[in-house]
Amino acid sequence: MPKDIQFKTILDLVNVFPNEKACHEYLAYQRWGDEMPCPYKDCNGDNAYIFKDGIRRKCTCCKRIYTAKTGTFMEASKLPTIKWIMAIYLVLHKKGISSVQLGKDLGVRQATAWFMLSRIREGLGNEKDEQLEGNVVSDETFCGGRNKNRHRDKKVKQSQGRSFKDKTPVLGLMQTNEYSYDENGKPIIVKPSRVKCFVVANTGAKAIQPIVRANVKAGSDFTSDEWSAYNGLSDTYNHQVVDHGRGQYMNDAGYTSNAIEGFWGQCKRSINGIYVKPTRKHLQKYFYEFAFRHNYRNLGFQSQMNIIISNMECRLKYKDLVA
Ligand SMILES: [Zn+2]
Repeated sequence: MPKDIQFKTILDLVNVFPNEKACHEYLAYQRWGDEMPCPYKDCNGDNAYIFKDGIRRKCTCCKRIYTAKTGTFMEASKLPTIKWIMAIYLVLHKKGISSVQLGKDLGVRQATAWFMLSRIREGLGNEKDEQLEGNVVSDETFCGGRNKNRHRDKKVKQSQGRSFKDKTPVLGLMQTNEYSYDENGKPIIVKPSRVKCFVVANTGAKAIQPIVRANVKAGSDFTSDEWSAYNGLSDTYNHQVVDHGRGQYMNDAGYTSNAIEGFWGQCKRSINGIYVKPTRKHLQKYFYEFAFRHNYRNLGFQSQMNIIISNMECRLKYKDLVA
């Protein structure tokens, strides 16, 4: 029974998912539990007939046939589902995997592996999560391009944000670790840090502020550097500024934006480990991957997988990817 399935290692996957039916039963159980809602948006059916193969279902209301993959990023793929599950495992357990490597690991063509990676990354970013809150730190980083200038140099005070011919700006918002202290005063992380990343057209106020306001709960502590695009956010947040321009790493009130620097470093290392550098068009998906890996770093693969399944209803078509 799918309820009792436990898996942790890549070897477990082979054992608990010996065939297509086992994969589908697990996906269906994680998506819908014991219910059978019709996955087609225009139908409110809540019952289905399950075919003998244990995979296909027929909605008793609209009579359409579907499977546990219908309406997900795995739909319309002829690949065995175990290859998708293995691919997700490999994506989450490496610092970044190239389509060349994934193709070799799964025994599929590189183009197929690239398509799978795109869909999986899209799926990782499809979280229905709440706003960040508490202590939130903001920063931008710049990806691509040849020149190695630190991004601080690219910022010009009081300008409307710049366009970057060869670099793509990414805005990061991080809710920092929340601690409690034991009787000896030793800090214990009660809520691990959590990050959201957004590829933006530029780093001007008009590009950044709507994202901040949509993703950070009003009333939170919000720390940024002195970049002018953040001016005006103090109407909604306890806005703390760390003046990097003056060599400051912590302001007088003790606020720092260091937490996100380590995360950017990991992102850069991951991108450098991928053979073909992501283009601006695909960069957001890579950051979905980096953010997911960071946010769920303390969970085992099964829990990570269950999060992906519960958020899986996004479907990326090949033609949208290459258009
Ligand atoms: Zn239906």
